Amino acid sequence: MAQCPCNSGSDFAHCCQPYIDGNPAPTALALMRSRFSAFAVGKLDHIERTFAKAKRQDFTLLTSAETPAPVEWVSLKILNTESGGEEDDTGVVEFAALYKKDNKLQVHMERSNFCREDGEWVYVDGEVRADDPGSFLGKVGRNDLCLCRSGKKYKKCCGV
Ligand SMILES: [Zn+2]
Ligand SMILES: [Zn+2]
Repeated sequence: MAQCPCNSGSDFAHCCQPYIDGNPAPTALALMRSRFSAFAVGKLDHIERTFAKAKRQDFTLLTSAETPAPVEWVSLKILNTESGGEEDDTGVVEFAALYKKDNKLQVHMERSNFCREDGEWVYVDGEVRADDPGSFLGKVGRNDLCLCRSGKKYKKCCGV
């Protein structure tokens, strides 16, 4: 896998991989991207480690209680960020995470809250935006490149 799953256009090794390997992410956005990429490559230990301490227990219970459904995470689009920089202690990232389920493109849209714990960015919680996925996908032109990074046109790929 050369290109990073987070759709930054950079190599995985120079984008999210260092954070997944345990280096602290400098910004809330970098952590958000690395968490998406960790889901995409199945590195759930990174997801668990970057939960706020108060939430980590929930995650452990969630993953041990049921095996996650087979979902293929295909792409990430950052919609908005607030704070979350190198000088900040809290941050918000709004994103659309695209995945395939039953061979259909789906969107998970969320407004996520991040904060620093012991100096490192962690994920606190998020508000899922349930109303928007249809309108988000509706804005993709039939002749645009597909969001799943296949290199094909949307109408010939996931937009079928
Ligand atoms: Zn990345
Ligand atoms: Zn596609």
